Amino acid sequence: MHDDRTLVESRLKRVLDERIRPAVYPESVPLEVGIWTAPGEPVPVAEGLAAPRTPIAVGDAWGAPWGTSWITVTGTVPEAWAGRTVEALIDLGFDANMPGFQCEGLVYRPDGSPVKGLNPQNQWVRIAAPAAGGEQVLLHVEAASNPVILDYHPFLPTELGDRETAGDRPQYKLARMDLAVFDETVWQLVMDLEVLGELMAELPVEGPRRWEILRAVERCLDAIDLQDVNSTAAAARSQLEGVLAAPAVPSAHRISAIGHAHIDSAWLWPLRETVRKVARTTANMTALLEDEPEFRYTMSQAQQFAWIKEHRPEVYARVRKAVAEGRFVPAGGMWVESDTNMPSSEAMARQFVHGKRFFLDEFGVENHEAWLPDTFGFTGGLPQIIRNAGSKWLLTQKISWSQVNRFPHHTFLWEGIDGTRIFTHFPPVDTYNCSMKGSEIAHAARNFKDKGVARHSLAPTGWGDGGGGTTREMVAKAARMKDLEGSATVRWENPAEFFAKAEAEYPNPPVWVGELYLELHRATLTSQARTKQGNRRSENLLREAELWCTTAALRTGAAYPYEQLDRIWKTVLLHQFHDILPGSSIAWVHREAEATYAALAGELEGLIGAAQRALAGAAAGGRELVFNAAPHTRSAVPAGGAAAVVMPGGTCEAVERSGGGFTLRNGLLEVVVDADGLIASVVELATGRETVAPGSRANLLQLHPDFPNMWDAWDVDQFYRNTVTDLTGTDSLTASSSPAGASVRIARSFGSSTVVQTLTLRAGEQRLDIDTEVDWHETEKFLKAAFPLDVHTERYAAETQFGHLHRPTHTNTSWDAAKFEACNHRFVHFEEPGWGVALVTASTYGHDVTRTVRAEDGGTTTTVRFSLLRAPRFPDPKTDQGLHRFRHALVPGAAIGDAVREGYRIGLPERTVTGSAERVAPLVELDNDALVVSAVKLADDRSGDLVVRVYEAGGGRARGRLTTSFPLADAVPCDLLERPWDGTRGEVAFEDGAVRLALRPFELVTLRLRATA
Ligand SMILES: [Zn+2]
Repeated sequence: MHDDRTLVESRLKRVLDERIRPAVYPESVPLEVGIWTAPGEPVPVAEGLAAPRTPIAVGDAWGAPWGTSWITVTGTVPEAWAGRTVEALIDLGFDANMPGFQCEGLVYRPDGSPVKGLNPQNQWVRIAAPAAGGEQVLLHVEAASNPVILDYHPFLPTELGDRETAGDRPQYKLARMDLAVFDETVWQLVMDLEVLGELMAELPVEGPRRWEILRAVERCLDAIDLQDVNSTAAAARSQLEGVLAAPAVPSAHRISAIGHAHIDSAWLWPLRETVRKVARTTANMTALLEDEPEFRYTMSQAQQFAWIKEHRPEVYARVRKAVAEGRFVPAGGMWVESDTNMPSSEAMARQFVHGKRFFLDEFGVENHEAWLPDTFGFTGGLPQIIRNAGSKWLLTQKISWSQVNRFPHHTFLWEGIDGTRIFTHFPPVDTYNCSMKGSEIAHAARNFKDKGVARHSLAPTGWGDGGGGTTREMVAKAARMKDLEGSATVRWENPAEFFAKAEAEYPNPPVWVGELYLELHRATLTSQARTKQGNRRSENLLREAELWCTTAALRTGAAYPYEQLDRIWKTVLLHQFHDILPGSSIAWVHREAEATYAALAGELEGLIGAAQRALAGAAAGGRELVFNAAPHTRSAVPAGGAAAVVMPGGTCEAVERSGGGFTLRNGLLEVVVDADGLIASVVELATGRETVAPGSRANLLQLHPDFPNMWDAWDVDQFYRNTVTDLTGTDSLTASSSPAGASVRIARSFGSSTVVQTLTLRAGEQRLDIDTEVDWHETEKFLKAAFPLDVHTERYAAETQFGHLHRPTHTNTSWDAAKFEACNHRFVHFEEPGWGVALVTASTYGHDVTRTVRAEDGGTTTTVRFSLLRAPRFPDPKTDQGLHRFRHALVPGAAIGDAVREGYRIGLPERTVTGSAERVAPLVELDNDALVVSAVKLADDRSGDLVVRVYEAGGGRARGRLTTSFPLADAVPCDLLERPWDGTRGEVAFEDGAVRLALRPFELVTLRLRATA
């Protein structure tokens, strides 16, 4: 037979585009349209409904950036349409692509009840089926003229990302505004032909199935009268029945589809817009659930449920009903889909506490999966946190974005730093926005790396990032692929149903140990430094506030601020969303985040101050009490307590050197700062050990050009290192000293920027503090602070949640080489047997480590560089411009325990309060420094129980006793939600009025302590 395949395929495309799709709406009449534009921010629904309209016509421009317009459409269904299905078609001026990245609308009835959301893939509103004829139509649209930030030419700098700079030029032109007849038979024919045409394109040309479909399609096209598609569509469909009825082969890959809309809680839109995005999408999804009995939908992020509960109660009522039916499924059990690299141990834990508790309280639903499709890498601390939250599964898709290495599994056990294993799935469809295209379904089946031993994968299905969700077209296509020869099978299933099946069919999945590093978006550890500092400061202040408010509540009977702490925690958790804390949102989001963090700091300082004053007693007592919120004794003040401090007599000095520069000494360290203001030597006097590599100088600021190929705020590409400028010129170099401390101050200028650094040795402290103040006015540059260390080691430790992980200092494999920028929490630590050095940081997260061998003496130089600032221009064209302050410290002679201790110290300064008390005894004490208290708080159930979270911080086994300064009646191990839990792997025993602990490496334990009545 002659090969006419491409001829028929081309025919299908043209006839679908030009004749069949247009025939879905064969008749239409225009609607009358009126508009009112709110003068500023969005207004309440009642106000929008009541405002006077002015006429507007199709083709007219509307919508300043970030504006809200209320558009009213009116019309009458023609009598001739009686008995037919009638829909309104409302095109606000959509671009066909990228729903959620442009204008959007929410349709209301005249009584203010929401109907559905509008986006380019969802422009229809059902009016009547069947219509009686003569019906009056009156609908209102709350239309948001959100500007396009990420365009066809992506990553171009734009001022549109903040209402303050976006201007008022209308962004859209009103397009189709019609009442139309919907011909369902033609629409079904479109679905048939799309599914078969897309499947056909994926099948082997050599195989018979492709040709069977091709011939059926040809017969179908022959049956259509191109001048009268509507009356011939049914006959055309009948030609396809046979090929659509052929069942899938028994070995077909099985896809669990779940309706979904990935909705970024803020990104290329501000937080306030996400509230409305969620309302639009959930209005559509609850409507679709009513229309489609087999459909299932899942929504993550408790915060988003909380938003619609507060702002769109009518939509929330529909969600509650669908959740109760088990078809609208809350997913993930986290407050938001957060970043996981940077949140602290406690914050990561609280993401699950607040997320799971919200779903339990609101719906009685407990999630067992963590749902993080879009997060930029996953720390080795996360598995234990997931398990301690009472969950057991993880879903993410993001690792498929890695630039270099292909991850070897799609379904596997992921083992964290403590040995906890979590059953994990990466959807092989490689998107969290599946649209049921044949190419996506075929890709999932082909791409699935666990073929032969496993058969199931999951496909989150629906428009996402900016919302949108699943369409009726996706549901129609999924129905055709339920059991279709040549295709993977598709069933709507809840995430939990998928995981249960996947786990059952794959009892011995492969294991991946350690972090899930994303080989992309590495610069999210640095971009938007003020947002990151706000996060770290808030985490530290929350620790202090919980500790001192708990102590004051138990000691003085002060009221514990449950509501206030709950609200502050949720605000901090929201800002850990995977485009806020990573610094990848528009300027508006980061401007607001900075203000929000400042307000939270004020509130938390107020709580801390009030609690400490209550504990210290009357100020007239005149005693200076030092409060220590760190988990280790400092200056003889016990951890979690307060005491008067006698400052040690100091012998600090700063001595000018003959060749320029200064030598600092404090009896523990001797630091040489050379004439360039760089650290030429740091010697630990007790051992005589030099810290700085010979021939190198530490605290060297280095400036790189930084213009990645894509994703400016997210990415730093490896070639940035090819060019570097060492900032060695000094404007001034001065020293000062007192018995308590000796400092060198170095001022430099470069480009349009200035930097002042102060290096300080303090009495009694084996640590060099480095304070940096940068007035940053560079563009597309990367600023690093380098510390070349005289340490020979193949690996180093970087702190993460509830412990640390090791990373190589070399680039042996492509996996090692791809980690050229990595995350730290408060410390990195390098050691040779018997001697180590730590670098600690108050607020920076990014760093890199390299190694060289010196020609002069053959020794190894291991260089760590903290990442301080970047200056990308997309999506915020002025990222990080202005003044920044950083604090770091170099700790020679540090064991891992010293690194942990100094890491806590740098973020938790001692606070001095004047009062009458001689001391404040800690509520709890531990007799082993490796056992670190992560949180002290009152139980969330308001029982008055004390909750203490402890973890083993050194990576070894640790035994200890936890004692309390009150009579202890009981101690119960709990999960993160403070529910009794027997999942502890080590030992926890309540005996003799104390708690005996024997924890495994990095193990965390939550204890609920009850005082004797
Ligand atoms: Zn996202």
